[in-house]
Order: sequence, then C-alpha cells, then structure tokens
Amino acid sequence: MNADRLLEHIKEQKIAYFSMEIGLRKEIPTYSGGLGVLAGDTIKSAADLRLPMVAVTLIAKRGYFRQILDERGRQTEAPEEWNPALYMDLLLQRVAVEIEGRDVLVQAWLYEVKSLTGGNVPVLFLDTDLAENRPEDREITAALYGGDKVYRLKQEAVLGIGGVRMLRKLGFEIKKYHMNEGHASLLAVELLKEFKRDIEEVWDERLVWDVDRVRDLCVFTTHTPVEAGHDKFSYDIVSRVMGEPIPLNVLKDLGGKDSLNMTLLALNLTEFVNGVAKKHGEVSQNMFPGYQIHAITNGVHSYTWTCDSFKRLYDKYLPGWANEPELFVRVGRVPDSEIWAVHLEAKKALLDFVRSETGIDMDLGVLTLGFARRATAYKRADMLFSDTERLKRMGSGRLQIIYAGKAHPKDEAGKALIERIFELKERLRDSIKIVYLQNYNMEMALKLVSGVDVWLNNPLRPLEASGTSGMKAAHNGVPNFSVLDGWWIEGHIEGFTGWAIGPEPSETRVSDNANDGKDAEDLYNKLENILIPTFYNDRHTWIRIMQNAIGKNAYYFNSHRMMRRYVTEAYIR
Ligand SMILES: *Cc1c(COP(=O)(O)O)cnc(C)c1O
Repeated sequence: MNADRLLEHIKEQKIAYFSMEIGLRKEIPTYSGGLGVLAGDTIKSAADLRLPMVAVTLIAKRGYFRQILDERGRQTEAPEEWNPALYMDLLLQRVAVEIEGRDVLVQAWLYEVKSLTGGNVPVLFLDTDLAENRPEDREITAALYGGDKVYRLKQEAVLGIGGVRMLRKLGFEIKKYHMNEGHASLLAVELLKEFKRDIEEVWDERLVWDVDRVRDLCVFTTHTPVEAGHDKFSYDIVSRVMGEPIPLNVLKDLGGKDSLNMTLLALNLTEFVNGVAKKHGEVSQNMFPGYQIHAITNGVHSYTWTCDSFKRLYDKYLPGWANEPELFVRVGRVPDSEIWAVHLEAKKALLDFVRSETGIDMDLGVLTLGFARRATAYKRADMLFSDTERLKRMGSGRLQIIYAGKAHPKDEAGKALIERIFELKERLRDSIKIVYLQNYNMEMALKLVSGVDVWLNNPLRPLEASGTSGMKAAHNGVPNFSVLDGWWIEGHIEGFTGWAIGPEPSETRVSDNANDGKDAEDLYNKLENILIPTFYNDRHTWIRIMQNAIGKNAYYFNSHRMMRRYVTEAYIR
C-alpha cells in the first residue's frame, strides 16, 4: 500500500461510519440483507457528493454464505470464500483489542469507493486473521452473523473498539462517529475512555466520565422496530469477553441494569438518534420514551440500482440524473413507448436468467410478480398462497411469480418458509409458473427489481423498519404492491405510484397476526380487480403508474437525498 494514498485520506476531518455489514458489490459478500446494502449505498452517495467520510466494518472472509437449495427447497449453506487482496490493500498498521484477557491484534484492508465526481471514500475492513493471534481469535472476523453470543460480542468489540483505535493509528481525525445499528455501540465506550474529566476531588466517580462530550461526537441510526430484536449481552459474557472497559456501575448506568443492551448504550451516548422511516421513528420513540428519536427515511443509490436499459433511457432524457436524482421529476418527458420498450428489455434479461437457472420458460407477455428479500417469518413470503384455489382462478395463464431469498442459517422458520414456497409452486405448476431462485445477492436483486412487472411486499406491521428493495424497483419503473409499513407509507399514492395491501397504518405498537386474513383478502381483491385488468387492458394507465414510480418514488427515495439530510440534520449541528 503506498503511503501517499493514505495521506490523501487523512488530510481532512472525517465522518466515521461504522457498520457490522457493508454491501458494496456482489464480489465482496460482506452483507446479509437490507442493512448492509443500505450501508454500501450510503458510502457510494457520500463518495458522489464528495462528503468527507471514512467507513469501518469487518472483513468476513467467509462472506455471509452461499445458499444451496435442493429440489424440495431445503437450504444448506456453504462458505462464500473470497479474496480481499483482489479488491483492496492490506495496511501495515496494527492495533490491539483486549479480548478474554488477551491482546488480539487487528489489521485493516483499505478499499476505496471512487466516484466519477472525484469523491473517494475509504472503507476499512478490519481483520484479526494474523499469525500472531491464537487460532480462535483469527476466526473473530471470519463469519458474518455466525456463532454464539460470545462470538458476536467479540466481533462487536473488534468493530467498535478496534475500529476507533485503527482510525487513530492511521492518523484520521474524526468529527462525528455514525453507528449504523447497535452493533457498533462499543465505539462510544472506547471514546468515553478517552474523555475522562480531570477532577481533583470526586464525590461520585461517575462524574469523571465525560458522557456529554461523547454524545456530541456520536450519531446513531436504529433499524430495529421490536424490543426482542435489540442486541443484548449478559454481564457475565461482557466481563468474560471484555473485562471491565469502564467501571461496571458506569456501564450499567449507560447500557442497562440486567444486561448490556447495545441500543440503550448507543441511545445514552448519542446526541442525534434516528429511525429509518417516519413510522419507524415513531415506533422507536414509543419503545424508548425519554429519548428524542428523529427520522431520516432511507434511500437507495440511484446509479447502482438502475438497470442498463433504464440507464440509457435516463441518460437520453434526463442527463445528469445519477448524481442529481431530483431530475426524475421530469420523467414525464419520456415517451410511453420508450418506457415500455426498456422495461421489456429488462424483463427479457430476467426471464433469460430464470431460464438459465431453472430451465423454466416464463412468458414475456404475462404479468410477473417479484418477491425477494431475506426469508424470515415476518416477511410472510407465503401470503400470496393463502387461498390457492382463488389464486389459480384469477392467475391461470395470467400471472407468473419469481421468488428469491436466503434464510439465516439458524432461522428455522425462515427455512420452513422456503420449503413451503417450493411445495406450493409444485402444487400450482399446471396453472401458474413460479420459480424460487437460489442464492439471492445484490446482482440478482438488480435483475429482479428491474425485470418483474410488480414488486410485492407484505411484511407483518410494524416490523419493516423501512424496506429498500421497493425503492430499487421504483428506479426501474416497477410499481410497488405493498403493505403500508416502512417507507411505503410515505411513498404510496393509491393507483398512482402503486397499490397498498391491507388497512391504513395504525397506531398499534405491538405486532400481531390478526391482520393476516384482511391483508390476504385485500391482496387478492386488488390483484384480481385492479392489477390484472389494468396490466392487460389499460396499458396506458399502467405505464403512467410506472412513470409515477420513477417521478415520485425514485425522485425521493434515493440515498443522495438521504445523505444530504444526514449532513444537515446529524453531521453538522
Ligand atoms: C436491497 C436488498 C435487500 C433488502 O430488501 P428488503 O425488501 O428491503 O428487505 C436484501 N437483500 C439484498 C441482496 C438486497 O439487494
């Protein structure tokens, strides 16, 4: 690694963005889903906008995992080995983090996200795979979300504590630390250790710790809309893994009496806290009364999430769109016929891909629904099949469906869901073509969100903090058909940008399955009476809706807009 490049990066103060997972491109498989892809999009927009940012994450050399599905949809996982040296440079500097009483050495790989605008954001991938470390310690940064609680806490210690130390060691000057989800909270504890007040006579030793100074430096984005989703560690595990980084009573004051709650820790050590959509901000506010929780709705990186044929179309009619997605406001200039033509091009590319993966020949003229995301219970991937007879009646020869998504290796309910979709696709094989594509990743995601006709999403409310795949679809003129949760509450105009499934969002905080039936009923009614007839009989209206998905949804739900808001509301305040 030549030292000049590092010098370039450290010459101005930076925003440090910490995330357990970052999804920049499919060759660097250090992401599991929306959280990581959002982090990648954040960094890409920061580079385009020439924001002074440095990102920190873990190397995860075995990736998340490669999904293998057998003929019945049973998932097995294989490591997704990749070679960092192909994409990044190993830096010489090392830092140590005390774990289980040992000094674990940490090194960093430097990856640069370079934009055509001249922006360049360095991303540090932390790595404990050093010959000097014990074998078990070399494993700490190997797997993303693998292992038990102890393993997870070790990873969070490397990310938070090791990350801060590495930035210091490399000479970075940091003006804000942004924690993307609670996994990075330990960075704030590390900062706290640096900011001890110089008080001579202390009547309460807690006053020594300059919490306000840390709060001023930190920004925290929460992504978890349910209490059970927050990362928690027993103090037994904490002391075993980390000893006592700060006195236990101080840590308990900040992170919770009974167990160390990473979200609570971040909330107590951060001035600016936000949720990832307006509704999620409110849900989080209710979950943590006494803290002020703002909302900055997510967005996706426009250039990354637009397929080739639409890129060409936008270049022709809206030049400059990639770095100024506001130009989508003028999508009305684009003739209907050209929108339809580039859509068919993307659809054909997807159907070719489906054929090569599954051998199944789908029909270019048939209304195609897409559903792809992490396979986990609350996403309710099987809702479309609540009444298979009805689905057959309305969909025979007029509907085809493409699924994809990985279940976390330990998520048995998620795995069962995949098997259920396999079972149903067999049951319906004579009337409706359905495929489930194996090994969902970013590259496949782009093919799917651009190549289907409708993007379907029916999570259990209010569990979809934001959701971002629907924003990607909108960038390719694909309208959303979705439950009113997360971003869609803000992006939905019925029959204009897409369609809602089920009732208006309510104030209820707890999730329950009481609406399953209502949601399914509404899904069927609209599919039968609105989507299918409009698609086949009123192409003009259909293309208008595609245009509105671009002009209203992509126009707003992009990460350039999101980053400008982080700058003005969180970073410089
Ligand atoms: C965008 C994306 C997601 C997020 O999808 P949601 O529907 O928002 O949950 C997950 N996985 C991959 C690979 C993605 O590209």
